[in-house]
Formats: sequence, C-alpha cells, structure tokens
Amino acid sequence: MHPASSAGPEKGQFDQSFIVGALDDFISWGQSYSLWPFPFATACCGIEYMATSASDFDIARFGAERPSFSPRQADMILVLGTITYKMAPVLRNIYEQLADPRYVVSVGACASSGGMFHTYAVLQGIDRILPVDVYVPGCPPRPEAILEAVMQLQKKLRAQTIEERREEIRHKLALIEEKN
Ligand code: SF4
Repeated sequence: MHPASSAGPEKGQFDQSFIVGALDDFISWGQSYSLWPFPFATACCGIEYMATSASDFDIARFGAERPSFSPRQADMILVLGTITYKMAPVLRNIYEQLADPRYVVSVGACASSGGMFHTYAVLQGIDRILPVDVYVPGCPPRPEAILEAVMQLQKKLRAQTIEERREEIRHKLALIEEKN
C-alpha cells in the first residue's frame, strides 16, 4: 500500500468529499431561497397570506413570492383557514402530490386546532391528517408570523439532507396512520 493512500489526498489531488459537501450546501442554500408555496386558503387567514405577499411585507425577500396552484410545482403547502371533515381527503390528496421536500405550514388557530369551530363538521387540527412542520399561532396571525414560518423552513431545509427529510416524513405519516 502506498503510504499516502491512508493519509488523505496526495499533493495535487482534490478532496472530493469536501467538494461534494460544499456543493450540497450550496444547493441547499439555493433551494431555501426558492420555496414555492401552495396556498390552501379556505377562510380569513388567506387574507393575511395576501398581505404577506404584498409589498409592505415583501415575502420575495425570502424567495417565496411565487405561489403555485399546482401541488406538483410547490415545495410547501400553507393551510390557511378552517378545514372540514368533508374537505380533509381533498387536502390530503393535494399533499400527496407535492414535490420534495413537501413542507406543511399550519397557519392560524383554525388550521392548527379547529379554532373557535369546535363542531362535529370541523377537523380539530390538520396534524390529524398531515405531518405539520410549523404551526403559526394567531387568529389571524400577523404577516410577520407567516414570514417567520418561512424562515424556520429555510433553516430546516439547510440542516437536513433530502434522505433525512424523506425519513422524517415517513415517520410522521406512520404516526398519523397509527392514531387514525
Ligand atoms: Fe379566520 Fe381566525 Fe380561523 Fe384564521 S384562525 S381562518 S382568522 S377564524
């Protein structure tokens, strides 16, 4: 065995793992600034999302200004408003079609817990059917709180590999299946 073979790259050779690692970081950084949201707005929280996208709050600073109305061209779903049991399968079906990394943001009290609608018809929190990543409190939440959720997702995206992310989703979905 050549003495240099166990002591890292020889002079003049690149350390490929360093380059691949740096490239991964660069790609994650780029992805974190191009998170395309699918806004699933069913009630008044949707109006706050509109304000968040407008110039005063300027969600474009975080690269998330481009709403996608096809789940296959979206990285995250923002659930904004009350979800009834009748609507729940539709929401789940849309979630299944999202592209990786498939983030879920529960915006406002109604999406997170049913809010004031404690009735037989309303789902008492979308985490009964979806793996939620960030809960945004409020009724309605301020646009700054929605921006904070986007920043949290950016951090999460940069901290995880796509395989770790897929594993996290598999684990959370298994827990949901167990509970239902
Ligand atoms: Fe409307 Fe409040 Fe429910 Fe948002 S949380 S949809 S503002 S009632």
